[in-house]
Amino acid sequence: MNLIIWTIVVSLLGIAVGSFINVVVFRTKENQPLTGRSKCRTCLEPVQGIDLVPVVSFFALKGRCRRCSSVIEWQYPMVELAMGIIFGLLFIRIVLEIAIPGFVSQDELVLLFIRDAVIASFLLIIFVYDFKYSYILDKFSVPAMLIALLLNAALGASVPDLLLGGFLIGSFFAFQFLVSRGKWVGGGDIRMGMLMGFFLGLKLGAVALFLSYVMGAVIGILLIVFKHRKPDSHVPFGTFMALAMFAALFFGQDLLNWYLGFFG
Ligand SMILES: [Zn+2]
Repeated sequence: MNLIIWTIVVSLLGIAVGSFINVVVFRTKENQPLTGRSKCRTCLEPVQGIDLVPVVSFFALKGRCRRCSSVIEWQYPMVELAMGIIFGLLFIRIVLEIAIPGFVSQDELVLLFIRDAVIASFLLIIFVYDFKYSYILDKFSVPAMLIALLLNAALGASVPDLLLGGFLIGSFFAFQFLVSRGKWVGGGDIRMGMLMGFFLGLKLGAVALFLSYVMGAVIGILLIVFKHRKPDSHVPFGTFMALAMFAALFFGQDLLNWYLGFFG
């Protein structure tokens, strides 16, 4: 029972963080400061307190501004709910001790949750921004790299392994960048590759890299089949990398064991 209540509390915290992530995405795009009251993006009228409740207000207003009736993006409740679910999943993972890295001891589980919640928040910002605007924000990928490295070191992960992972996965993209003169991948992909290593270490980082290509291929094929999209149209790869890193947290080790058992 306690687990359910606490999961709800943590999920509500996630929803609040998701609400802030929406602010970060839009204001970063529009070059606005992060502080200051929320305004309707069409009529620029400040939003009243009662209309600022995450998820609930969107549905109470039927997705329209109270004053000018302009459509409010679905992104708002989607991101809020997604972050709520992500925080809930991360919390359950810690409590039930699912896929806890070997270097994390029993009394470091709270710090592990903080690491994953913070990095997941950065990943969601990168995911939404790349999805909407096809651009990976260094402003968020670079701090995420440093925070991941720092918190992993505090948790007792092997720093040489993290650095090697970041270097090798980053180099994988840097090589493609150099060969194609920036046509196949962008500089943002290189930094996301480094983040994979710094966050997950070499092995799980490699799993995340593999997963991002699998997801990219599957979604790419589905888009071509169902939307008659041209095969060469741009698919924002940062979104897949962000998603893959999150998936690798939960399933990376199992996938790796399965793979190694398959060939070993
Ligand atoms: Zn308005």
